[in-house]
Amino acid sequence: MTNIRGFIFDLDGTVYLGERALPGAVETLAEIRARGLPCVFISNKPLEPASAYAAKLTRLGIPATPRDVITSVRVLIAYFQRHAPHARVFPIGEPPLWEELRAAGLQLTDDPAHIEYVVAAFDRTFDYRKWNIAFQAIKFHGAHFVATNADKSCPVDGGEIPDCAGIIAALEATTDKKVEFVAGKPSPLIIQTAVAQMGVPVNACLVVGDRLETDIVMGRAAGARTALVLTGVTRREDVARADVQPDYVLENISEIPRVVMQWQ
Ligand SMILES: [Mg+2]
Repeated sequence: MTNIRGFIFDLDGTVYLGERALPGAVETLAEIRARGLPCVFISNKPLEPASAYAAKLTRLGIPATPRDVITSVRVLIAYFQRHAPHARVFPIGEPPLWEELRAAGLQLTDDPAHIEYVVAAFDRTFDYRKWNIAFQAIKFHGAHFVATNADKSCPVDGGEIPDCAGIIAALEATTDKKVEFVAGKPSPLIIQTAVAQMGVPVNACLVVGDRLETDIVMGRAAGARTALVLTGVTRREDVARADVQPDYVLENISEIPRVVMQWQ
């Protein structure tokens, strides 16, 4: 069996929840780093730039740089740079997303006749105006339809809040068009980015996350080892019913050294 030589951690519900580090997160990350093993953090959340998530990790006791955090927005920008580097886009998202897209060279517009790409994102200010602009652009002006992520909900302290899947569904249901590209997990691009950055073969990487349909599906499809933690949205009883099974089911991240590092 190949030893684990690189770690890919989801953030929300895995490493932290709201403003607190989950049990064992600080110690586990410190132990992995003390062994000289690379790790990256991946997040589907497009609400803030990677620098903000890195600052949060650092504040919670897990020192991190912006490069250590791979977001769905970084992957989406890489997609635009390959396919349409100066495209006119309409982001259904919050201001930090607009800023990231603008800084990457994309042109922002809310004129349906000029929109080339509608970007659906996790947007806590989603409203009928944005829905209608995107609807007009996609249905009547041939705009492409892409998304940062397709999570149904986002775990927060005390529960969950609705995420980008609902916004994608609103547009698909009304335009009869399907989203063409989703940047975040389980997209293979986000794990490819993580693996390339660490320089470790994918079959020697462990993906750790709290969500079966994103973290675990992505890890398995790419050929990585997978560990589901029960500190986020997935309960133990959900695992038995799932089509895709993780290699490990852990109460929390603190069990990683015991189950994984004993091989080394
Ligand atoms: Mg998560």
